[in-house]
Amino acid sequence: MQISTAATAKRTLFRYGLAIGLIFLALLVSLALQNSFGNPFWFFFSAAVILSTWFGGAGPGWLAVICSTLAVMYYFTPPLRSLAVTPHDLPYFVTFVACEMGVTQLISWRKRSEDSIRQARDELEVRVAERTAELKNANDALVRQMAEQRRTEETLQATRAELARAARITTIGELTASIAHEVNQPLAAVVANADACVAWLSRKMPDLAEARSAAERATQGATRAAEVIARIRSLITKATPEKSRVPLNRVIEQIAALAEGQAERNHVAIKLELSPDLPIVLCDSIQLQQVILNLIVNGIEATTSVTDRPRMLTLRTEAEDKGQVRVSVRDSGVGLNEEVMGRLFEPFFTTRPKGMGMGLSISRSIIEAHGGRLWAESNTSGGATFQFTLPSEDGLTA
Ligand code: ADP
Repeated sequence: MQISTAATAKRTLFRYGLAIGLIFLALLVSLALQNSFGNPFWFFFSAAVILSTWFGGAGPGWLAVICSTLAVMYYFTPPLRSLAVTPHDLPYFVTFVACEMGVTQLISWRKRSEDSIRQARDELEVRVAERTAELKNANDALVRQMAEQRRTEETLQATRAELARAARITTIGELTASIAHEVNQPLAAVVANADACVAWLSRKMPDLAEARSAAERATQGATRAAEVIARIRSLITKATPEKSRVPLNRVIEQIAALAEGQAERNHVAIKLELSPDLPIVLCDSIQLQQVILNLIVNGIEATTSVTDRPRMLTLRTEAEDKGQVRVSVRDSGVGLNEEVMGRLFEPFFTTRPKGMGMGLSISRSIIEAHGGRLWAESNTSGGATFQFTLPSEDGLTA
């Protein structure tokens, strides 16, 4: 504070000193030129007043006016060397003084406005700089926040993936017990039937018929074990379906032919009602085969205890509006009571002694992964109908 007051005093002194110095200079030059050019005082004094006002401000300007008036009065207007003016020179002298005052007034006004404009511009620049710094800070904070958010999202994603993996491992762990149980049974049957087969063949009079049926039962057990493993494997390994253009009717015919043996053994008639104009679907054919086979096998198993009506399984395909195809598997089996209906698609839900309760839940997730829907209904005439839809590839027919 003291430093700035001293600096201001110094500057003020300099400004007033400058005014006095300039007037003194003007006086010297005018005196030097007086003999050769008469009285050129008006020009040099005016210049000194202008410079004093411009560089020193209003105060020094007025001081220059007073000093130049006195100097002119003393040195250049008769009577010389006196502070008096003759009446003859008075108008000229008054005009000179009035001009000096006018110039000082005008220049100090001009200077003031320029100073205030400069000050306003400086303040504006300072404010713009402050605002720019604030905006930059805000921008930096935003960038940091976005980076932070991205890191959080990545962490979240990683955590989710880790959780999903952990959930899968847990499921696999649970499944392992189930697999061991499921696979052990058919394998025990394979061993028992193979033993029986050997025993029938080792008799003195080998009974080929019994040996064959024991061997067939062993084959069935092995097939069942393989099926169980295949189902579990598809659940664990096939995360995303590999889609290709699949003619649905042909797939259904092939699967129906595969299941024909089991259907015959259980006296179930399989009927196909396939729409001839069915569009091609885009799907993973292996997974689709699994779904259809699972529905057919379930249908056959559901009819095995039916004795009062024909055991029937009807496979039907039809094209739906909005580029969808629908597949339905209708059986005349035991049907679905309320409890079963509510839990059908739950993993590990089964009412069968040898069931695993995974078929329908896997089937539903496969169909949903293809953008379709799988659901079940009870038939009014007995039995159940399982249906699913799949998006079709428009414009192509099977
Ligand atoms: P699993 O066949 O190993 O039992 P699923 O998931 O395929 O497993 O079926 C679960 C349960 O749904 C079956 O145990 C059965 O109770 C019921 N279910 C499935 N299909 C039918 C059907 N067509 N009719 C009656 N019940 C069925």
